[in-house]
Amino acid sequence: MNRRETFKLVLGTAALATTGIVDVAQADDKPAAFTLPPLGYPYEALEPNIDTKTMQIHHDVHHGGYVKNLNSLVEKWPELATPPMEAILSNLSVVPENIRTAVRNNLGGHWNHTYFWEVMTPGGATSPTQDVKAAIDAAFGDLDKMKALVKQAGLGRFGSGWTWLGVDKDKKLTVFSTANQDSPHIYVGAKPILAVDVWEHAYYLKHQAKRGDYIDIWWNTVNWDKVAASFKKATA
Ligand code: MN
Repeated sequence: MNRRETFKLVLGTAALATTGIVDVAQADDKPAAFTLPPLGYPYEALEPNIDTKTMQIHHDVHHGGYVKNLNSLVEKWPELATPPMEAILSNLSVVPENIRTAVRNNLGGHWNHTYFWEVMTPGGATSPTQDVKAAIDAAFGDLDKMKALVKQAGLGRFGSGWTWLGVDKDKKLTVFSTANQDSPHIYVGAKPILAVDVWEHAYYLKHQAKRGDYIDIWWNTVNWDKVAASFKKATA
């Protein structure tokens, strides 16, 4: 705890104990523009597929880092805090040039991870909903062929990035990959419905260099209800 926080705590406690004028202590304390969304399940919930330590570091440190960076960037460009994030990601030319790369990386990272946590769940359905299954069959032949393409895209991503299942302009499903923290919204085209983080930080503690093993096991965590909801929205 730093000096300022200690001071606020003391002042806040004193105020509560007397008149309740806590606002005095909070007057200079604006809420952060960006906050780290809590996981919808405990860190250990995806064991044994995704280990607890990886979830803690991935969520708190990596995702938390992007959020922290965004709050610094807001000070330089307040418009960054205007939702929805997708509007800025799909039109990065509106971002001042001196912070454009940082916004691309950190806003992309924030969007991607927020979606990623939601598209995983403990004890979810083991197969896609009827409408998603039909779309997968139509686009790829069957579920296993789609999974093979996701794996291929993930293994083919040199360095760090993401693999996605999305709905393209013709409302057909497509598998694609993005580099670094690039969000699918940066590219004109597919709307994401499923995300696999293939950065080493997503799997290295458990799988070390075996990215393919991680992608295989990742399917045990998929939240098909979330995929279905996103599919419905993207095809509406
Ligand atoms: Mn990540």
